[in-house]
Amino acid sequence: MVNFVGAGPGAEDLITIRGHKLLCDADVIVYTGSLVNEKILDCRKDSCTVYNSAYMSLEEIMEVIISAENNGLKVVRLHTGDPSLYGAIKEQMDILDKNNINYNVCPGVSSFCAAAAALNIEYTLPNVSQTVIITRVEGRTKVPKKEDISLLAKHNATMVVFLSAGIINELVKKLYSAGVSMSTPAAIVYKASWKDEKKLICSVGTLEKTAFENNIKNTALIIIGNVINSNYERSRLYDPCFDTLFRKEDNKYNEG
Ligand code: SAH
Repeated sequence: MVNFVGAGPGAEDLITIRGHKLLCDADVIVYTGSLVNEKILDCRKDSCTVYNSAYMSLEEIMEVIISAENNGLKVVRLHTGDPSLYGAIKEQMDILDKNNINYNVCPGVSSFCAAAAALNIEYTLPNVSQTVIITRVEGRTKVPKKEDISLLAKHNATMVVFLSAGIINELVKKLYSAGVSMSTPAAIVYKASWKDEKKLICSVGTLEKTAFENNIKNTALIIIGNVINSNYERSRLYDPCFDTLFRKEDNKYNEG
């Protein structure tokens, strides 16, 4: 059994208890060295062998995993944040399937959750946005044409943009061509939950300048949307005049 584990966004105590236990128990750990906090690995057994996949190709990674598995060793493939987002796990799973090797996924706290926490924001504010678009600007990895940011931005929903801190100029061009106002609130969160985290609130029009002045080129998320700074309607969920599955309407607060 191979375990894909989400390491969380960075802080060593933001891995799940299950993920931590799997690491403590592992004989072999292959981790995405570029973004995983190595302190998370401190709990490993002395006998555990660790590989940094930043220096390895898919073929090399799979060779390590498959040979460890064939030797009856417990393998953890540790991915940053949650493995389901930009983790390239599907291609690893397909190779494991071909080799009749079972696997499990232990989810992790994605960086987009850590970024919201850093900013004290809620991505889904009533009457402002009830949708979060997770996307990226096309770089060396292609983005399907119908998902181009210039099209997605027309929804005016909250957008969280991964993998694009080095090409903010492209992002802003696309937002502009979608007719997004340059005064729309935006934020950059660099290394959310790490000790050197930076959180910068700006607007779409000042995104490039803000990133440049703070020397941010990678390991950052860009958040766009009125949820960053806007008036909103209070939620129905905790409204005393509104029945839920768990709570009856309280007439004391009902003005009519
Ligand atoms: N699976 C990961 C994303 C991997 S893609 C997750 O769920 O978070 C790598 C991109 O994620 C980076 O380029 C950056 O845009 C973002 N990222 C990862 N960790 C981050 C962090 N701690 N703070 C801000 N952005 C982060």
